[in-house]
Amino acid sequence: QAKRSGRNRFQFYSATMHEETRERRYIEKELQQAIEQEGLSLAYQPKSDMECRRIVGIEALVRWNHPELGWISPAKFIPIAEESGLIYPLGQWMLRSACAQNKAWQDAGFEPIRMAVNLSPYEFRQENIVEKVQQILQDTELDPQWLEIEITESSLLDHTENTMKTLEQLKSFGIHIAMDDFGTGYSSLAYLNHFPIDTLKIDKTFIDQIASNVKDAKLVDAIIGIANTMDLIVVAEGVETYEQLKLLEFFGCHQIQGYLFSRPVPADAFEELLNKYKTVLP
Ligand code: C2E
Ligand code: MG
Ligand code: MG
Ligand code: MG
Repeated sequence: QAKRSGRNRFQFYSATMHEETRERRYIEKELQQAIEQEGLSLAYQPKSDMECRRIVGIEALVRWNHPELGWISPAKFIPIAEESGLIYPLGQWMLRSACAQNKAWQDAGFEPIRMAVNLSPYEFRQENIVEKVQQILQDTELDPQWLEIEITESSLLDHTENTMKTLEQLKSFGIHIAMDDFGTGYSSLAYLNHFPIDTLKIDKTFIDQIASNVKDAKLVDAIIGIANTMDLIVVAEGVETYEQLKLLEFFGCHQIQGYLFSRPVPADAFEELLNKYKTVLP
């Protein structure tokens, strides 16, 4: 069976792969231009307390509106940026823009609030990442306590001395560290114990079914329990319904992020949220 269709299949796959390579190259080229020519923007999504009455944090997310292709999801172009090395200038631009915006809001008289930026494992493993972050904080004059860096479990995979050193140095400035998408990677509770992490963000895939699937609900309950014994701030990602919110509150979750409270929005819309909801630090 495999042998008979083998030839056609090969042609089919190679044509598809060729298409994919072309598309990737195109995206790569366009992305490079977007980074250089201010073609990227930021969206801001609030994290709220369990009553949805206060904003307790912000996550900055990269956005790309391509002149012909329209909005392209970061889920699509971040992997391409990682493979091509564009993640380094992209990441620098994001970090700088996020810190500058946060400082601008403080200067405009808003209560200071912590803003989180996602750091790709590629960026995190750079030898001079600490200096780069420090430089941006200096240039934008943002107090480090208002910056949070979100890393994923894969950033900690190689368990080296460098990983620990990077985290400890960032922490020593007063920067907060969040473990993003918890549960989707090579989840190890050891990571939570060994590394100086402030916040645990439970991935949306675990939150999705908590109101309909008892096993998921029990798992999330257990994760929140463990995080609480380790004095971590627990954030549930991708909360979309009131039922989810109520369960998470019952489990002892501290913060939620998701469409239920707000989608990621541009800066001007976020200012309206800041005006409407009192901001406090957890
Ligand atoms: P993430 O860091 O886990 O970010 C949360 C993602 O979930 C965002 O998607 C956000 O829009 C989406 N989301 C939040 N609440 C809900 C909800 O209630 N329902 C649904 N369906 N989705 C929700 P986005 O912006 O498309 O980003 C996807 C991923 O791309 C991010 O996941 C992050 O891993 C990566 N990413 C985004 N911006 C950056 C960046 O500046 N640098 C790096 N390195 N990665 C980034
Ligand atoms: Mg994130
Ligand atoms: Mg996340
Ligand atoms: Mg996620």
